[in-house]
Amino acid sequence: METLEDFRQRSRAWLAGNMRRLPPDAEPWNAMRVDEGDAERAKALQRKLFQAGFAGLCFPKEYGGRGLPRVYQKAFTEESRPYEMPLLFNTPTLTIIAPTILDMGTEAQKRRHLPAMIRGDELWVQFMSEPSGGSDLAGVITSARFDGDNYLLNGSKIWSSYAYFSDYAICLARTDWDAVKHQGLTMFIVKIHQPGVTVNRIRQSDGNVEFCQEFFDDVPLAPEDVIGKVNDGWTVGQRLLFHERSATGGSSPYASGTAGRRIETIDDLVNLARAAGRLDDPRIRELLAEVYVLQTVQGQATDRIVAGIAAEALPATSGAMLRLFTGLNGLRRSDIALEIASSDAVAWDAGESDGATGKSYIFRQAWCLGGGSTEMQRNIISERVLGMPREPAADRGMPFKDVRRNAPGKEA
Ligand SMILES: Cc1cc2nc3c(=O)[nH]c(=O)nc-3n(C[C@H](O)[C@H](O)[C@H](O)COP(=O)(O)OP(=O)(O)OC[C@H]3O[C@@H](n4cnc5c(N)ncnc54)[C@H](O)[C@@H]3O)c2cc1C
Repeated sequence: METLEDFRQRSRAWLAGNMRRLPPDAEPWNAMRVDEGDAERAKALQRKLFQAGFAGLCFPKEYGGRGLPRVYQKAFTEESRPYEMPLLFNTPTLTIIAPTILDMGTEAQKRRHLPAMIRGDELWVQFMSEPSGGSDLAGVITSARFDGDNYLLNGSKIWSSYAYFSDYAICLARTDWDAVKHQGLTMFIVKIHQPGVTVNRIRQSDGNVEFCQEFFDDVPLAPEDVIGKVNDGWTVGQRLLFHERSATGGSSPYASGTAGRRIETIDDLVNLARAAGRLDDPRIRELLAEVYVLQTVQGQATDRIVAGIAAEALPATSGAMLRLFTGLNGLRRSDIALEIASSDAVAWDAGESDGATGKSYIFRQAWCLGGGSTEMQRNIISERVLGMPREPAADRGMPFKDVRRNAPGKEA
């Protein structure tokens, strides 16, 4: 195998010769402000990485990857930081959905979809949350009824990032209403753009429209599109949540390039303070030091928890600690950015700024919701890392059709 140092040198040279170097004043990439044009661009860039052998570094070779250890991906990501990268492919396509299919999918699903994701042909989205609530994932009421040939999907999903321009979704639906809550669920692959699927975009408080709500009207799903076993979708969902916590906690080996918002890293905030003429203000310097500490602690906590899980010294659910830290860290950095930018964050002259700091602040609560809320991470840490008693649940042991809820599913 090529040494890590040789790989790093080769990556550096290839990136310099083939990818667009971002100008120092380039707008930070914002996962929440993307459109169809960005999707096409990301597909083109992902194809370029694939053709050069720099895509899917940690995925097995038989499914289109390179089969390399995670340190190689880390080195490539470090080298790629100054360049435009297909960041849209990271989450959920490559960091959450591809590893879930790798762990739980059939051989045919892996061969069909993993190479297509890695070479930039397929963008995926998650159909998990429902209007009745996202935290109680096992309580989904979107249903899939078997008609003898296919499953017919009915119901609604919401808060699906990028669904309107994505190709496929991984979707949790209820297939057995007589079983107890966690045992009547099945995970499906759903082609998004087909008759019976209506995708509506949702305008958010910060003006973005990347979130979607979908409505399903007798959408046929083939039995070959079941991931894992029928009525065992919760096991698949658990695996998906594990990968989601790794992705949102910053420890996924499958992320290529710096994922998530690049705003509010220490470099961004130093630049913000400089632009505001406040770099010498002692209070601002104190805040910048805090961001530096948070960023350093996050990096070290990631290394420690990833190593602990790999060595089985920590349970796999420990990723919840990183997810919690990332959420709280994101909030704090948004607050600090607002304090540094001061009045510039709320009012600006046309052409002078795009108000990124203010808009990011409005969106800050998302840090504590996307990928599972911080409260739910605290529950996981207490119950499944520290072994404390489980919170009471009125629906435990009861057939799901008898569980009280506000809006019964179409087939309940
Ligand atoms: C940026 C972003 C991207 C997202 N992308 C997707 C996506 O692509 N696909 C998708 O399916 N979903 C997505 N979501 C939705 C996300 O998964 C949900 O917002 C999240 O799971 C919480 O669900 P909810 O919003 O319905 O809140 P609810 O579940 O209604 O919870 C409301 C509040 O109650 C708290 N709460 C609920 N239950 C408990 C409990 N048992 N103990 C303590 N507190 C509790 C929650 O922490 C929260 O503060 C995204 C969300 C965001 C912000």
